[in-house]
Amino acid sequence: MQKIVVVGGGYAGMACLIELAKKGRRHELHLVDAEPGHCKVTHLHKTFTTPVEGYTVPFAQLAEKFGFRFHHQRVSFAADELPRLENARALPLPQGTLDFDQLVISTGASAIPLRNGEKQGFGLGDLRRGRGVEVFNRLLERSEEEPAQITLVGGGATGIQILFELKEQLRRKRIPHNLRLVDLNERLVPDQPEGFHRYIGKKLQREEIEYYPETRYLDHAEQAIRVEDLRAGRILSMNSHLTLLFPGVTPSPFALESNAYGQVLSGQTVLPSIFSAGDCAYFHSRGLNLLTAQAAVRKGRLVARNILNLAEGKNPYKYRYQEKGYLISLGSVDAIGWLGLRCNLVKGFAASFIKDAMETQYDLFLDGVDTYLGFP
Ligand SMILES: Cc1cc2nc3c(=O)[nH]c(=O)nc-3n(C[C@H](O)[C@H](O)[C@H](O)COP(=O)(O)OP(=O)(O)OC[C@H]3O[C@@H](n4cnc5c(N)ncnc54)[C@H](O)[C@@H]3O)c2cc1C
Repeated sequence: MQKIVVVGGGYAGMACLIELAKKGRRHELHLVDAEPGHCKVTHLHKTFTTPVEGYTVPFAQLAEKFGFRFHHQRVSFAADELPRLENARALPLPQGTLDFDQLVISTGASAIPLRNGEKQGFGLGDLRRGRGVEVFNRLLERSEEEPAQITLVGGGATGIQILFELKEQLRRKRIPHNLRLVDLNERLVPDQPEGFHRYIGKKLQREEIEYYPETRYLDHAEQAIRVEDLRAGRILSMNSHLTLLFPGVTPSPFALESNAYGQVLSGQTVLPSIFSAGDCAYFHSRGLNLLTAQAAVRKGRLVARNILNLAEGKNPYKYRYQEKGYLISLGSVDAIGWLGLRCNLVKGFAASFIKDAMETQYDLFLDGVDTYLGFP
């Protein structure tokens, strides 16, 4: 019986375990995760008013459904330790060693650190720890005072989703506020078609959100931030009662370069028993390597299939998944995205409806109903 250990039970790790579980109980499956539950990260922008528990499934529950053993532990490893892990086939954990035949590393991504940012700002780690409600309630408590000055740093997909969700909730609860967006780039969501920038730009104006493009966040002290206007070459100081830092993410703990089958590379050498998947995995193939949930799920499933194929002496599959579309939400009834071709933009309620349908598809997948078409 093969013993397969997955480190990191996010979208990629769970997709891998579910795919392995579908093939029966011929394998001993283990999951190691630093958290007690699977967090549906693509809903995190909604956790200012809905507790994060609403978007978290306890690993104990998933373990029972899909037949794996859960180890609630944080793993730490460095890139140069991987060849040693491959040879030893044993993963050192804080509470002992876990041996394996195959190891899958799917530890995701973490927020890009900002100079002086961590100490004062509120970021992705805080949302994951469920601090969104607490921060929102603090804004609610000061409703009678002067308008809250709120700054969000980061005009990428995550920052934009958080910005409009927060705006909607502030409006609903009638909290007086001024919301501003500070972004280093000249274009919003720069890796997506130009139409995203235009549509979101107009919405920023309609919603009276101040927009500072080409502006670098510098630091934060005592309810004020300093930014650098890159066009004018000036440093500005602004009042900010709440500063939200969402400058993007980076593979965690580092990018795991892997071959087209998902096996990790140490320099030019393939580590045949160690696989990667998800945001931390960079596959050398024609497939999608963006840090998105859809790529994470596909990489996780591919790696599971390849582990099984290799064990049975069959050829592994190459990772070839191409993006079928991309949508970002702009509040509860608005979204922007593309489907099929990047020039085929969908906007407004229709886009929001499709986005919700995609979230439902993932919920079904976690329930054991796989409606993802094609492979991986
Ligand atoms: C607000 C927000 C909205 C998003 N919306 C979308 C969207 O609409 N569509 C889309 O495609 N993508 C979206 N994304 C991106 C998407 O969430 C990520 O690409 C996806 O979560 C990556 O999955 P993953 O499995 O690689 O990592 P994760 O889902 O982050 O899971 C990583 C897991 O590894 C565990 N872990 C990490 N380090 C360790 C360690 N050292 N030891 C043990 N366990 C560890 C973590 O606890 C976690 O369970 C969004 C992201 C955010 C933040």
